[in-house]
Amino acid sequence: MEELKERIKREGVVASQQVLKLDAILNHQVDPALTMEMGREFAARFKADGVTKVVTVESSGIPVAFAVALELGVPMIFARRKKTLLADPDSYVERVPSFTKGIVTDLMLPKRFIKKEDRVLLIDDIIANGDAARGLVKIIHSSEATLVGTGIVVEKCFQSGAQSLRDQGIRLESLVRIQSLGEDGIVFAD
Ligand code: 5GP
Repeated sequence: MEELKERIKREGVVASQQVLKLDAILNHQVDPALTMEMGREFAARFKADGVTKVVTVESSGIPVAFAVALELGVPMIFARRKKTLLADPDSYVERVPSFTKGIVTDLMLPKRFIKKEDRVLLIDDIIANGDAARGLVKIIHSSEATLVGTGIVVEKCFQSGAQSLRDQGIRLESLVRIQSLGEDGIVFAD
């Protein structure tokens, strides 16, 4: 998506060699037109896969997941992040490290929203080490639903998350791939 790349070049802020701030378009302010464009792009890539549910994690995954779900005409479900959670028999729970917060949180998703007949598309804003995505994958496996793939807006190729999911045989589509962050600014992979 060329427009997204241009917006990242203009509005992204390199916070460190590991972290790109995208508050102006993804993580704080949301551009509805650009977000709908992302939704159309993911929907086109997965339209032949019979998706019945789009799943994401609060909070930054929600706008784009909503846009994808709207395009595909299916519900969107977001896992909540809780700091602590007592065992809840009605929810799937996976404990994952949070890349940006530096703490461990529990991803929680009520069991009643995913059934084993479902075909699930995971959507998230940015992938780094892949902990959030792996947590969601485990939840989908626990539900016995079918995981059709994962759509990520920004893939940071220099961190291991995207590759580790692909190594597990999971289809992972990203809209923009970043090779490195640093003194040269934002270097795109393609
Ligand atoms: P992971 O679990 O793959 O290590 O990290 C993914 C989560 O951390 C995403 O939901 C994303 O919001 C956040 N994240 C990871 N890397 C970055 C980054 O460079 N910038 C921002 N703003 N968020 C990030």
